[in-house]
Amino acid sequence: TVVTRFAPSPTGALHIGSARTALFNWLYARGRGGKFLLRIEDTDKARSTDANTQIILDGLNWLGLDWDGDVSSQSDHATRHAEVAHALLADGHAYKCFSTQEEIETFREKARAEKSSTLFRSPWRDQPDSAHPDAPYVIRIKAPRDGQTTLHDEVQGDVTWSNDQLDDMVLLRSDGTPVYMLAVVVDDHDMGVTHVIRGDDHLANAFRQNLIYDAMGWDKPTLAHIPLIFGPDGKKLSKRHGATGAAEYQAMGYPAAGMRNYLARLGWSHGDDEFFTDAQAKAWFDLSGIGKSPARFDFKKLENICGQHIAIADDAALLQEMQDYLRAKGETPLSDAQADGMLRALYCLKERAKTFPDLIEKAQFILNERPIVPDEKAAKNLDNVSRGILGELTPQLQNASWSRDILESVVSSVAASHDMKLGKLAGPLRAALAGRAVSPSVFDMMLVLGRDETIARLQDAST
Ligand code: GLU
Repeated sequence: TVVTRFAPSPTGALHIGSARTALFNWLYARGRGGKFLLRIEDTDKARSTDANTQIILDGLNWLGLDWDGDVSSQSDHATRHAEVAHALLADGHAYKCFSTQEEIETFREKARAEKSSTLFRSPWRDQPDSAHPDAPYVIRIKAPRDGQTTLHDEVQGDVTWSNDQLDDMVLLRSDGTPVYMLAVVVDDHDMGVTHVIRGDDHLANAFRQNLIYDAMGWDKPTLAHIPLIFGPDGKKLSKRHGATGAAEYQAMGYPAAGMRNYLARLGWSHGDDEFFTDAQAKAWFDLSGIGKSPARFDFKKLENICGQHIAIADDAALLQEMQDYLRAKGETPLSDAQADGMLRALYCLKERAKTFPDLIEKAQFILNERPIVPDEKAAKNLDNVSRGILGELTPQLQNASWSRDILESVVSSVAASHDMKLGKLAGPLRAALAGRAVSPSVFDMMLVLGRDETIARLQDAST
């Protein structure tokens, strides 16, 4: 079975590019009845924090990227990593290196002066144990020095490196702690990872990690190094382009389903499909659909796709996510009464909303209670004439049956009796019902507000 993993380092917030990496791994596993594992790579104790780990978990939860089993912490496996280093030492794939930092620096300076490779070549590689001093040492892997290594990557194709570019990297430091490169390989092996899908900034690491697989004689995972995400200007996505943290997108109020859809499309394609459901994405996602060149982040497209997901969302689920959004922002969630109103109004708000703030903005007419105080723009639509007309409307609405058709004909006939187009009356009605110049259609508002509230608001405005 397929086993993928997401292996973030908790040294910062969850970057939107990392969120996409997680999504690709999730989609690949979920579409194949496989497992998606989460491993926190916290070996860099100085830079890893629990707060960052929490931000990463929150981000994955927000995006609905559920993982299988417990969260694994790389630092918990340090003993096992050291064990593997010692196994490689025992069978001759690795050696003890007693070179000091100063010796290594001297080597490099000399190499720079001679314009030769600065990759450190340890004099201890071929020394017998009998020559070993009683001094601290690191364990280095014995890397091949000539020939080439070709790795097949599902995105990059065959990538070839000359082996003289590889040094005898350290596996275990002199204090006995494993290096990151060793930890990744051992963990991926032990967790049964079959597919490594990650940013192409790790492609060079793949060659170093490959040394460990070869030395241990372990099965290698399928590799897929995905291009990074660029901003609209074709440069690596950064703060300059706008938000980079997944949490910032949550705070902007993008629905998770839209985010998943958009991020899936960012660097991966399935024909011309732009809008799709999770089920479709899981069924369609494949490594062959991942592009070789960096995708550009396009906020317009993100909004467009989010809008389409809001339009098809289940109302109760949408309300639930809206409440989560408000809580995540540290704002007060909707009260029961407001939530109730929101549920009744969603049908007419969903069409053109792209974000939760959009929905909430459009829902102001139902979220606010009387008296409705018109804002400056709306107030301009409430002159004496229109106040009078609103006053005329109320007794008629008292007896009308509360359906769109009837409401339309009542309002139309009152407008006509004043030689007015229906549209002319919309402004005053919006001002009275919503207190705004822009709102959902007046008939939708009437239907959502109901007879008593509609009449009360019209009366408030007409007096
Ligand atoms: N911990 C690495 C990172 O956050 C990922 C390593 C990997 O996926 O192999 O960039």
